[in-house]
Amino acid sequence: MFAELKTVRELIQITSKYLADKGVESPRLNAERLLGDVLSLPRIELYLQHDRPLSAAELDRYREYVRRRAAGEPLQTLIGTTEFYSRSFKVPAGVFIPRPETEVLVERCVELLTPEGRRLVSPQVLEIGCGCGVIGISLAAEVPAVQVVATDVDPAAVELSAHNARRLGVAGRMTFLAGSLFAPVSATLAGKVDLLVSNPPYIPAGEIDSLPAEVVEHEPRAALDGGSDGLDFYRALAAGLAKWLGPEGQVAVEIGAEQADGVTEIFGRSGCRDIRVRRDYNDLPRVVTARRAATDTG
Ligand code: GLN
Repeated sequence: MFAELKTVRELIQITSKYLADKGVESPRLNAERLLGDVLSLPRIELYLQHDRPLSAAELDRYREYVRRRAAGEPLQTLIGTTEFYSRSFKVPAGVFIPRPETEVLVERCVELLTPEGRRLVSPQVLEIGCGCGVIGISLAAEVPAVQVVATDVDPAAVELSAHNARRLGVAGRMTFLAGSLFAPVSATLAGKVDLLVSNPPYIPAGEIDSLPAEVVEHEPRAALDGGSDGLDFYRALAAGLAKWLGPEGQVAVEIGAEQADGVTEIFGRSGCRDIRVRRDYNDLPRVVTARRAATDTG
């Protein structure tokens, strides 16, 4: 492949076809993103510089990228970044790669944190399972004065999130803690959370091996495995609502497309009200939100 020195345009053509033959989705986008990374050019510049020839060293790097992409390495971990809610996040190999559907969860959270006609003063967000940090960081960037505490069971994810928060200039309003679920959260936050948010692992354990090889071989199982019915983490989150949410506190979670009934029932049984399901851009149920039951004063 790429025998003689080729131009940007020729390389994109050849590579798109090659990746398509290897069964890679969106082959042209992949070819462009990889080449853009090798040349340190944004995609639009590839079109403006379509006649530019590549040096032998650039060509070598590109060839290696294309080979690894065709063998199933995710685009995002190859180039080391992903776009989420119009911002760029670092995602090295071995972490969960944010999915575009999760932007629907962030959009819903922004609505909850900026209610019409009312201004929440420094709303407190608690995120469980932050991965590379996209949800909490997007909220900190979108909602002025929001404060975010985010946890993840993987210390490397916590470090990565903190790094992404610094890069995007919101670290001053965020705290990242390593530990399972609520374990690392300071007791001083009990009863003070305005919004609990999570995109927990929700794939039923028995279905993980039937996910695409790209996911199974390159992403951490702990970020996917939701227990035998996929709902373990919703039960664990629901069990924490009474302790952590403030009187008007709300919860927002991403769900698997088949889980709307199951998750609605779990939150219903833990005494939530206003339970709502939001669909994603493929019209699949994707986000469940609920409000903490009014405190029983009788
Ligand atoms: N939607 C993800 C997938 O398809 C799973 C996300 C999760 O478990 N939180 O792999």
